[in-house]
Amino acid sequence: MKQVYQEAKEFAKSYIAPYTDQTDRDARFPEESFKELGEKGFFKLLIPEEYGGFGKGLEEHAQACHAFAETCSTTALCYMMHNVAVMCLVTHGSDELKKRVFTDIVENGKFMALAYSEFGTGTHFYKPEMATEVNGDLTTFNGKKSMVTSASHASYYLVLAPSVEEGKINNWVIPLEAEGLSFEMSGWQGLGMRGNSSCPMNVDHVTLDSSYRIGAEGSGEEQVFNVVAPFFITGLAAVYGGTALHMFEVASSHAVSRKYPDGSSLAHIETVQIHLGNIYKQATAAKAMTMEAARAGANGEADALTKILAARVFASEAAIECGRLAMRVGGGKAYNKALPLERLLRDSYAGQIMAPSADVLSVWLGKALTGQMIP
Ligand SMILES: Cc1cc2nc3c(=O)[nH]c(=O)nc-3n(C[C@H](O)[C@H](O)[C@H](O)COP(=O)(O)OP(=O)(O)OC[C@H]3O[C@@H](n4cnc5c(N)ncnc54)[C@H](O)[C@@H]3O)c2cc1C
Repeated sequence: MKQVYQEAKEFAKSYIAPYTDQTDRDARFPEESFKELGEKGFFKLLIPEEYGGFGKGLEEHAQACHAFAETCSTTALCYMMHNVAVMCLVTHGSDELKKRVFTDIVENGKFMALAYSEFGTGTHFYKPEMATEVNGDLTTFNGKKSMVTSASHASYYLVLAPSVEEGKINNWVIPLEAEGLSFEMSGWQGLGMRGNSSCPMNVDHVTLDSSYRIGAEGSGEEQVFNVVAPFFITGLAAVYGGTALHMFEVASSHAVSRKYPDGSSLAHIETVQIHLGNIYKQATAAKAMTMEAARAGANGEADALTKILAARVFASEAAIECGRLAMRVGGGKAYNKALPLERLLRDSYAGQIMAPSADVLSVWLGKALTGQMIP
């Protein structure tokens, strides 16, 4: 994994592209692509070398997610969630928990998911409300997570739950086979990202010993804001920036290949040229902002936070705007689904509402830029 972006692009051509239509049409999790992602080593991108991984960081995370989204937004989003959960474990997990989970990922092609959002607190996922009860070394959880991407397909769920210490939170790793864990598969009817399987997860008297908790009791907040948030927010910027670039590729190649009886093409029409220019400008700006944000984040630079927030808000809004313009270029063929543009437009709409939503992040950005505390 030296040239992650290029390697991910190559991978996507062979192992993601063949399944994208079916993933959307049948709202089917891209199982084949995920099997190959494990076999070709992408699940261990961020896992440290001492645990059998490649030991990469924020920049490679952004590159892989962007490259995958240029082919399939759903696959990129599910993959992105895995990396975020892995990184929380990398930075704050015990050696015992890392060995247990990372060995399964590296050797058996298993992957992770993020179960944070709840019906009550919605976009403010950092305020979980599920019930936790401690009895000696055992903690019992009761509650419900509202939307869990890769639900039932992932083998380990990074779950945010209240601590027994008032006002504090913890990250836990709940294995798929934990007694009391179940999924409401019919609860996912997404407008886009249809293969995500982002359905509710029931946590019904799930009991774990403390070895499944990440870090010391009550230490979750620092993990959420210092690790989960940067990887998640940058990853979302990459997913929606990649989606925007995908829209450009589809719209521009359609403009060139769609011929009129006089032999001219759509690409000869000035208005279409302007639309394509606008799509290209926004998609490449989103990519540049995302890669710069990831670079600044990886190097711990002072303005990394504002760059990450700005990239995420810009990329989400750019994807929707690129989709609107691309649909215009695609005309009746796009509307009638002969081109995948309507799928990409539907996928792009998830960007503005995924937590923390574009509106919430815009407020955070303004606060961060003026030296105020967030959230
Ligand atoms: C495709 C997809 C995949 C997802 N996958 C996961 C996953 O894997 N794991 C997970 O934990 N969650 C996941 N989610 C859930 C998501 O991240 C949000 O938590 C969820 O969409 C919030 O929904 P809600 O209706 O409860 O939001 P609400 O909290 O009701 O918000 C509704 C709207 O109000 C706005 N709003 C609310 N509060 C404010 C405020 N203070 N300032 C400005 N605007 C505000 C928001 O911007 C939002 O647009 C996923 C969502 C989608 C769409």
